Amino acid sequence: MSGGPLSGLLDLARRARLYPAVILHGGSVAARRDAALALARTLLCAREAAAERPCGDCPHCRRVVWPEEKSDAFHPDFAVLARDLKTATSAEATRAFLRVAHSSPFEARGQVFVVGEADTLSGEAGDALLKLLEEPGAGAPRHFLLLAPSRLDLPETLRSRSLAVFLGSAESAPEELLAETSRGLVGSLARWRSGGSGGLFLLDAAARLAALPGFEDPRADAPWSAAAEAVRRAALGGELPAELRRPLFALAEDLLAAPALRLRGIPPERILEGLLARHLAGRPES
Ligand SMILES: [Zn+2]
Repeated sequence: MSGGPLSGLLDLARRARLYPAVILHGGSVAARRDAALALARTLLCAREAAAERPCGDCPHCRRVVWPEEKSDAFHPDFAVLARDLKTATSAEATRAFLRVAHSSPFEARGQVFVVGEADTLSGEAGDALLKLLEEPGAGAPRHFLLLAPSRLDLPETLRSRSLAVFLGSAESAPEELLAETSRGLVGSLARWRSGGSGGLFLLDAAARLAALPGFEDPRADAPWSAAAEAVRRAALGGELPAELRRPLFALAEDLLAAPALRLRGIPPERILEGLLARHLAGRPES
């Protein structure tokens, strides 16, 4: 996983500029947990010099661990809400969890509350969390980290009060499929550039991207980030004319934002064709 989005977050945490609520989405379950732990340690670490946080070995850092890890380590200012029902995190469990948030930190300079599977929060549980987010804090910084496969799995009311950080696509396309899609894309785009049957090869390029797995789930981010990655690789591969680089990078950016269009009910093929045409068609063919 790239350190990019996370290192930016850690930096905000060191400068005490982190949003009170952060959605950590994308990546694997382990990647989301690791990100939450790194963030919590950065927020609670005892080091005076912010740049040295997290140090990894002060009493705070050492006790911030995921509760499932068989360990006696426990930090009174770090709590994880786990899913308590088969498919949901109940309102009762959420309220009990949030009760601690009304107290001041016990030992550290702040408190960190992690919702392990925020996508499973029941409607009532989500409302309880929202209510707390809207209340002014007791003074000491209070942070909520909401973990979910996709930010789109969370209610809009929670999303609008949180900073969403995408940790990358993990459970998406396997490496060889990405490489193959990228090669196919280069072929389609090269044929399109050399003229011939006009927009046909753009449709072919769109179909190659649409064949990536996961598009059938309208709420999934992963296929879009896989498509963006395939486009990025095609741009970087060096086989296409250099002037295509910029539009391809812009296309990759738009693909990452495409789940919003998908949620409006537009079929994925149409979105892909539209975005390819917007960024590439109309460019002078060589
Ligand atoms: Zn530390």
